[in-house]
Amino acid sequence: MSEKPYLSLVIPAYNEQEVIPTLLTRVEAALKELGRTFEVVIVDDGSTDDTPRLLCEAKGKYPWLRLIRLARNSGQSAAFQAGFRFARGEVIATIDADLQNDPEEIPRLVKLLETEGYDMINGWRKDRNDTAFRRWQSRQANRIRNKLSGETINDSACSLKVYKRHCLDGIFMFNGAHRFMPTLVKMRGYTVLEVPVKHSHRFAGTAKYGFRNRALRAFKDLLGVRWLKSRYLRYEASEVE
Ligand code: UDP
Ligand code: MG
Repeated sequence: MSEKPYLSLVIPAYNEQEVIPTLLTRVEAALKELGRTFEVVIVDDGSTDDTPRLLCEAKGKYPWLRLIRLARNSGQSAAFQAGFRFARGEVIATIDADLQNDPEEIPRLVKLLETEGYDMINGWRKDRNDTAFRRWQSRQANRIRNKLSGETINDSACSLKVYKRHCLDGIFMFNGAHRFMPTLVKMRGYTVLEVPVKHSHRFAGTAKYGFRNRALRAFKDLLGVRWLKSRYLRYEASEVE
């Protein structure tokens, strides 16, 4: 693949052997709908199951597939950042590997990015297909996140997102940053539109987070984001001739 594609789709995958084949067929069909050039950058986050083998084999079949491997499991934010570094598209989309986000939604969101004049589109899982406890947890998380960081975002952590490339070039990331992407983009002066998207239950494989490793970490990170937002350097400078 020598020419830069229009769209890069970045997908983090950690021990997702059950979903990889379906993921690849659905992603291919969905992105062909768009009628633009594309690449799919799958970041294997140090998987220890059959994910690496399945992805290596798939590379022979799908010319648009690029495979980035993290040497060891480093977390979803690291996987996204690595994917962003390797992505070459002028538009960058993201989804999770487990197909809880519908790849079929991507063309619609990319078109909205082109027509609505925003820098980023953030998916909003308005009707979430998760357990009642998980839905409650997410509602509380967004409520507290908005209150403490002065935001009005309905679903900050939905992985279905589409960015113009400049949103991500040089963005500050940290372990856990994937839950705060709209805020991290907005604090750089860019605009974000939230759009309701379909959401499905996890049909195979296992969820990687529980209450402890999500809620407590996300709260600590929120305090950091709140500080960062209040101290973020934003200015325009030019040399006077
Ligand atoms: N993931 C990852 N590294 C990790 C944990 C998760 O790359 O250390 C990936 C995982 O394979 C999936 C996505 O991040 O594609 C979201 O994970 P999961 O579906 O378990 O999270 P949830 O949907 O419960 O938020
Ligand atoms: Mg999931």
